[in-house]
Amino acid sequence: MFHRRTQLQPATTSPRILIVEDEDAIAETLSYALRTDGFTPVHVRLLADARRELSSSSPVAPALVVLDVGLPDGTGFDLCREIRAMPERGNIPIIMLTARSEEIDRVVGLELGADDYVVKPFSPREVSLRVRTVLRRASAAPTSTTTRAPLFVLDAAAQRITLGGEALSLTRREYLLLKTLLERPRRICSRDMLLDAAWGSDAESGDRTVDTHIKTLRAKLKALRPDLDPIETHRGLGYSVSV
Ligand code: CA
Repeated sequence: MFHRRTQLQPATTSPRILIVEDEDAIAETLSYALRTDGFTPVHVRLLADARRELSSSSPVAPALVVLDVGLPDGTGFDLCREIRAMPERGNIPIIMLTARSEEIDRVVGLELGADDYVVKPFSPREVSLRVRTVLRRASAAPTSTTTRAPLFVLDAAAQRITLGGEALSLTRREYLLLKTLLERPRRICSRDMLLDAAWGSDAESGDRTVDTHIKTLRAKLKALRPDLDPIETHRGLGYSVSV
């Protein structure tokens, strides 16, 4: 029996994953893992080639970009920033690959709008799983807002946030912390970023201050909705809200 798999599978079942990586050995093992998991990997070695794949004139946009930080013609951070500024393709999920494990690289990458990061050396299978998770999260986001009322409603003019329709009784700092997190759904906010947003130049405070206020904020959310724990802790990085 002769099967033409490529013809039987509609294109939508195999999302294109753009891999921007100058080391061929890494790109090859990653491509293999992605193909095994039903994705269509597209490998480029330069930012210039990635830009071509991402430009609105290319017929098929990648479903996700796996982006190395150190590239011959620039850094992955640059491209991450460029993608987020694209009018039509600015929401494409991005997973950064970083060779150094210094936290600063990860934080910078995530604050630029990356969805996740992986530190080299990594297991290709693990990256493929993350690709699946990030894609699921990205595709769930728009549907959930249209099919049900959002869990949090931020009324910036009234400086008020409701959870499941009920107004939260928050201190000014708690309000500012939650507002900052809600404005960047599913993205990690570093402690520095939160400190800046809620305390500004009031330098009475340090990382611990953020942690303490997040703790009381969590308790207030939990009192209203014990079934949820919407604030996620990312060890060494910061916090995100996942709704
Ligand atoms: Ca590299």
